[in-house]
Amino acid sequence: MIPAAPLPMQPTRPLRWQQLWRDAIRDPRELLDLLGLGGTMPLSDAAAAQFPLRVPRGFVARMRHGDRHDPLLRQVLPVDEESRVVPGFGLDAVGDAAARAGHGVIHKYNGRALLVATGSCAVHCRYCFRRHFPYADETAAAGDWHEALQAIRADDSLHEVILSGGDPLSLSTAKLTALTDALRTIPHVRRLRIHTRLPIVLPERVDDELTDWLAGLPWPLVVVVHANHANEFDPSVDAAMARLRAAGAILLNQAVLLRGVNDDVDTLATLSERGHAAGVLPYYLHQLDRVAGAAHFEVSDDEALSLHAALRARMPGYLVPKLVREIAGEASKRPL
Ligand SMILES: *Cc1c(COP(=O)(O)O)cnc(C)c1O
Ligand code: SF4
Repeated sequence: MIPAAPLPMQPTRPLRWQQLWRDAIRDPRELLDLLGLGGTMPLSDAAAAQFPLRVPRGFVARMRHGDRHDPLLRQVLPVDEESRVVPGFGLDAVGDAAARAGHGVIHKYNGRALLVATGSCAVHCRYCFRRHFPYADETAAAGDWHEALQAIRADDSLHEVILSGGDPLSLSTAKLTALTDALRTIPHVRRLRIHTRLPIVLPERVDDELTDWLAGLPWPLVVVVHANHANEFDPSVDAAMARLRAAGAILLNQAVLLRGVNDDVDTLATLSERGHAAGVLPYYLHQLDRVAGAAHFEVSDDEALSLHAALRARMPGYLVPKLVREIAGEASKRPL
């Protein structure tokens, strides 16, 4: 058999979301200038060199002009505190960061397999374990999934596949379609879940192509987005959420409890309410993974518990996220 010749590369025009992706801000000075904060805040070249700044312009537009304590800015700006060495904060906080950064399957919990679809993210969150594995910034080739798919096929206890990363929606819809076409041929897969921050930080990603793909999938679908503060929502995010719901997805939010971002009960309550208004229910509130460079975001367990109790006392149960910590080797996230 003569192998088919590879198609010549078509100089196709990038889609709008891809243009916005490429146009993300990468220069801390430009970011501060845009916010009217140029020269007022110390910049950390060391932190930026270790894990570069990356933030889409639409997300920056939701930051408060002139506010150096803005909770969205704090999530993305490289700062000197990241260089501090703090005991207990290491490179592999949850025991599998190295595995998660590769292209593969992580099977830690019963019935669920997490598929690391790509290492790319549209935004670089300073508190993330990814800060130590930022190398996988090119899009994964479809061929890389072969082993992952084989592992899922070989284990018929796996009923749910979780697309994760990085951010799985950073892949083109054509690549996502190829992936789910392969998953369709595995009879024991009954549910699909997608963990993504893109509908929050770059809501334009939820375009017609994407919703057509989602609506055509044969499984019940859960999309877990990631917003840490109510200000991350705006009308463009509301529209993206409405489109995801119309495509058949149940929407949940996971947040990380972050010092200086959402470590008070009013902020957490407003996050739940704002998400709910957009059609998203809270799922997890994570205690920070103890990764080197993120110690200044940590909230103690005692404080986390008292915040959570205050939230429970104030909100309907469905607007209270589960407060959890991920611990290497455990059968689930551990409730605090
Ligand atoms: C968090 C996580 C899951 C999902 O856990 P749920 O409690 O079902 O949300 C699955 N696999 C891995 C490796 C995880 O870290
Ligand atoms: S989008 Fe998610 S995976 Fe990517 S840097 Fe932020 S928290 Fe980490």
